[in-house]
Amino acid sequence: MTRQLSRISSRVAAIAESATLKVDSRAKALQAQGRPVISFAAGEPDFPTPEHIVAAAVEAARDPKNHRYTPAAGLPQLREAIAAKTLRDSGLTVEPSQIVVTNGGKQAVYQSFAALLDPGDEVLVPTPFWTTYPEAIKLAGGVPVEVFAGADQGYLVTVEQLEAARTPRTKVLLFVSPSNPTGAVYPPERVEAVGRWALENGLWVISDEIYQNLTYGDVRARSIVDAVPELADRAILVNGVAKTYAMTGWRVGWMLGPADVMKAAANLQSHLSSNVSNVSQRAAIAALTGPQDAVEAMRRAFERRRTVIVDGLNGIDGIDCPTPDGAFYAYPDVSGLLGRTWRGHTPTTSLELAELLLDEAEVAAVPGEAFGPSGYLRLSYALGDEALAEGITRLRRLFA
Ligand code: PMP
Repeated sequence: MTRQLSRISSRVAAIAESATLKVDSRAKALQAQGRPVISFAAGEPDFPTPEHIVAAAVEAARDPKNHRYTPAAGLPQLREAIAAKTLRDSGLTVEPSQIVVTNGGKQAVYQSFAALLDPGDEVLVPTPFWTTYPEAIKLAGGVPVEVFAGADQGYLVTVEQLEAARTPRTKVLLFVSPSNPTGAVYPPERVEAVGRWALENGLWVISDEIYQNLTYGDVRARSIVDAVPELADRAILVNGVAKTYAMTGWRVGWMLGPADVMKAAANLQSHLSSNVSNVSQRAAIAALTGPQDAVEAMRRAFERRRTVIVDGLNGIDGIDCPTPDGAFYAYPDVSGLLGRTWRGHTPTTSLELAELLLDEAEVAAVPGEAFGPSGYLRLSYALGDEALAEGITRLRRLFA
């Protein structure tokens, strides 16, 4: 008898489709059919990339020197600009050689886990989590260990919770502040407490700082390596231009950390994807070193929309939405809407609730199941003011 070979490797077959991209593409498909769907699903700013950045890319595309490979880890000039940004915003001094420019922050997340994890190593993942983390951990052979913090604790895990989840197999703590999907920002003292705990227990920290420039009111995101400098030898920072500069499509992110780990990650990348598009790298240099006023204008727009969405959601009976301090997501607890009947449907999970929203109100939102437990929705407020207001009106009408 011939041996039955599986078509797909078990490792890759186990990867779930990105739920956020799935909801967003379903919304876009409905829009393409002419349905007036309002999508709160996308994780990207609605603004075009600022003009001076686009101009730098156009110029770069015309210059033949940018038609060639760069070092796999990125253009030296970009790595210098990233080092300056890191000192400014994360309080950490790094050499350009400690930086690897990646195809978006997403590749940096993958390569961080790939560089650190051996089979069976556990990673503590504060939950609700960004959908990609557990998949990236599993692909690297690791085991994600969820540490849940709900709306009642502002979506912030405590040191006690982390300690309770730690085992002899724990190698890495994933830290993300501001968070996708909750928008929660850890207060400086909590960042320090978490960092000290990680240091004392010999853990590595992968800190995803991609939303660090998007905070509101008086809140500032403190880097864990700024709070606990001794952690720098066991920390990888992940960042990128996507969210701050409205550059999601340009695919420029980076990872930085101890020289030996970055060398290993750069070796991996040299076989995986080589350098990020030269033109995009040049655009990223313009973003990081050029005027920052467009960034501030976008941040203010998000801040304004945040008020509209949080007030709108909290005005609906059955929804409890903490005010997010950063990123551009509202993450309401919608358990008060479940088990009740709306237009003949009785959703019992947030997944069913999200389907109801799309079918009955033509509003797309990502269900909590994509990020951890049921009972929540993620609504991005990085959409136009009018669409935002209309979306809220539809929700109010549906749940009246
Ligand atoms: N980290 C977090 C928390 C994110 O939300 C995202 C984008 N959704 C990324 C990393 C990756 O962003 P990109 O690959 O577009 O740079």
